[in-house]
Amino acid sequence: MAATAPLAVCCPTCWKWSELKSSTICKRCGSPLVLPDGRRVDHARDGTAPTAVAWNAPTVSLAPLTVGTDWIAIARWITMAYAALQILGIFAIALLVPSITIPVQDPNTGTIVDQTLNLRPFLALVAFVAIIFYAVIVWLTKYGVARAIVLVVVVLEALAAVSRISTETSTAVVATIVSLICDAGFAYVLVMSFVSHPRPAPANTGAGPALSIAAAPPPPPPAPPPLVPFPPPQ
Ligand SMILES: [Zn+2]
Repeated sequence: MAATAPLAVCCPTCWKWSELKSSTICKRCGSPLVLPDGRRVDHARDGTAPTAVAWNAPTVSLAPLTVGTDWIAIARWITMAYAALQILGIFAIALLVPSITIPVQDPNTGTIVDQTLNLRPFLALVAFVAIIFYAVIVWLTKYGVARAIVLVVVVLEALAAVSRISTETSTAVVATIVSLICDAGFAYVLVMSFVSHPRPAPANTGAGPALSIAAAPPPPPPAPPPLVPFPPPQ
């Protein structure tokens, strides 16, 4: 940046204007100095700052506002939360049970030897596959066909859980009931994603607290020079 005239820069913390020298940070507090158009001096020098025009462009969202619950988004969040739980569970197993010991018969001698098997590489692979699997499901959630398939799977799973509830111990029954309640909630969200769609907001209802200015307010103008006191009246 070949500045011919001295350029004024401002510290956004001290709100103090100064002449641009070689330093890009405030001498007092070390904050990055800001140009009058809002760009940081260091970003402007190495070219990573957006141009002044782009900086001043409106940053409000131009997407149409919608009202009503976005059930698809809720379904997506539930899937992500479920996936996170599963993957955390896999990691917990890897932490608690790093290896298992299995008896293996030696083919030469015929003796049974205990062999220790490291489970962690296998569990890492399982976690990786699970992440990919759930990422695909989350991505597919926007398609009605995929949501219908997930709904059928959830319902079948719930029916299977109900049918084996009589053979379970009391602790397992509690766990099954909790998981059935979760299944019911997820199924409800999936059903609602078919019957209820978010619709465009009617214009001029003020329905949008969503509009917000992302850019920080510009630095204040330079302080005026100290006023010369009025000469005493003659
Ligand atoms: Zn400062």
